[in-house]
Amino acid sequence: MKELVFATNNQHKLRELQQILGQQFKILSLEDIGCHEDIPENSPTIEENSMDKAIYVHEKYGKNCFADDTGLEVEVLDGRPGVISARYAGDEKNMDKNIDKVLSELKDKTNRKARFKTVISLIIKNKRYQFEGIVNGTIIKDKRGKGGFGYDPVFVPDGYDITFAEMDAEKKNKISHRGRAVKKLVEFLLTADADF
Ligand code: IMP
Repeated sequence: MKELVFATNNQHKLRELQQILGQQFKILSLEDIGCHEDIPENSPTIEENSMDKAIYVHEKYGKNCFADDTGLEVEVLDGRPGVISARYAGDEKNMDKNIDKVLSELKDKTNRKARFKTVISLIIKNKRYQFEGIVNGTIIKDKRGKGGFGYDPVFVPDGYDITFAEMDAEKKNKISHRGRAVKKLVEFLLTADADF
């Protein structure tokens, strides 16, 4: 079976991709290929960070692979927190503090438009591809809901009146940034173009 490395150790993400692609591909984690080091994520954009991770694995381990990177982009904050979404309020990666920082920066703003963006970078036989998934929405003033993770309690996707944290996981996956990027990746991998 064809092997493809997913440059992550996030078990939830790995399981999801293995379930979708398991018939055609054996999905390997970083741990599976013996990559235990922290892959540098120092680039200024989500696109570059995502591709950097794929390049790192491809060059160091010689494997076909893909990597993802996600960020929340708030319109009046010029796209921040963006690429530093996980550590917006500091390297401790505390989500309550990250959310509080965004809410305080939006305190007097009427424009509360934001979007989540995921970019998946794929390298097959030295050829590079990217797949983007975006969901537009609004940042509300107070947290609502217990599900999901990250900024979900303050993000209401367009067309809904509940936050991602109030939505069941299946529904969120259908409309989310990551769900949309993964769908494009899977469609590509299952076509002849992706033959390897
Ligand atoms: P990653 O690239 O998937 O690790 O995501 C980076 C950061 O973006 C996470 O630490 C979260 O703060 C945020 N994030 C990513 N995906 C989501 C999501 O689906 N909901 C809320 N926050 C997210």
